[in-house]
Amino acid sequence: MPTSPAIHKFTTASGYPIYRLTLNAFPNFWTYAYLILVEDMTMLIDTGSGFGVSNQDLEAGLALAGDAEDRDISLATLTHVLLTHGHIDHFGGLPHIRENSPAQVGVHELDKRTITNIEERLAITSQHLNNFLREAGVADAQRESLLETYRMAKLTYQSVPVDFTYEAMGMRLGPFEMLHVPGHCPGHVIIRLEDLLFTGDHVLGEISPHQAPESLTAFTGLGHYLKSLEDLRAWTGDVRLSLAGHGDPIPNLKARLDEIEEVHAHRLEKIQDILKTPHTIAELAHILFGEVKGYSGYNQLLALEEAGAHIEYLYQRGELCIHNLEDLEENSTPLPIYYSLL
Ligand SMILES: [Zn+2]
Ligand SMILES: [Zn+2]
Repeated sequence: MPTSPAIHKFTTASGYPIYRLTLNAFPNFWTYAYLILVEDMTMLIDTGSGFGVSNQDLEAGLALAGDAEDRDISLATLTHVLLTHGHIDHFGGLPHIRENSPAQVGVHELDKRTITNIEERLAITSQHLNNFLREAGVADAQRESLLETYRMAKLTYQSVPVDFTYEAMGMRLGPFEMLHVPGHCPGHVIIRLEDLLFTGDHVLGEISPHQAPESLTAFTGLGHYLKSLEDLRAWTGDVRLSLAGHGDPIPNLKARLDEIEEVHAHRLEKIQDILKTPHTIAELAHILFGEVKGYSGYNQLLALEEAGAHIEYLYQRGELCIHNLEDLEENSTPLPIYYSLL
């Protein structure tokens, strides 16, 4: 279990220091922000959640890095903040940073609206999620509680403006280069600095990054994600080390890409086998992941989205049919959908 605050130092090929700051984002959930001192920039990649002690951990981590560098490093001395993607455990610290720092904040176009107008994202995605959970065959009481869980996790965040977007900058800022990798999140980017990559949640060392169906949010979904893994493979060059948003650094990125692709290929095969008899997404999630417990039902939601993303991928590619089409045709409200192999 990580401890926070804590720092760990990495160095690029030409000697720029990078400090990984460990932040307690939610109870029993840690995330990393990275401080990079390069040329005249004091750069922060990702911000933690802004929840609980996350902001304190961020400030304490910056102070520890300042001690190590023998210079003053704090929110007030940051020049830039780059976000890898628009998930709350990566951008939730922005309001606190905005209040205490002159840093210029950048994000990819496709995640900008989430940062600057989270109320819209919550309202729209809640509607989509409500339909998704009905179609998935989740019972009414559980559906209400999962929707509540979804909204609660984002409720403490206050929308803030951003200063620039990556595509508008030609996908680079000084020595930093970005690659757009939609899938886990619409505007996810990988950031490259010399021989190091910051992979956010697109590639993680220990677990395969979470997938949700594109029916909830455009530019997510397994199809986009797998395509982005291939785009990264072609773009990465001879990267020495990949630093992720959670978990250990990844020394051999291409081997890790192989492993993640293998996880999904195996899961898709298993699902096709299960769907020789018709099942809903909720039934499939239960077969795949068992009784899921955890932080306020959040893990149940993740399991349903993961199963939904794989079914959607197979259905989009013409591998599945809808078994109870007549029921759906007779009703105008969303009903549980039973999928089966063609
Ligand atoms: Zn994420
Ligand atoms: Zn994350």
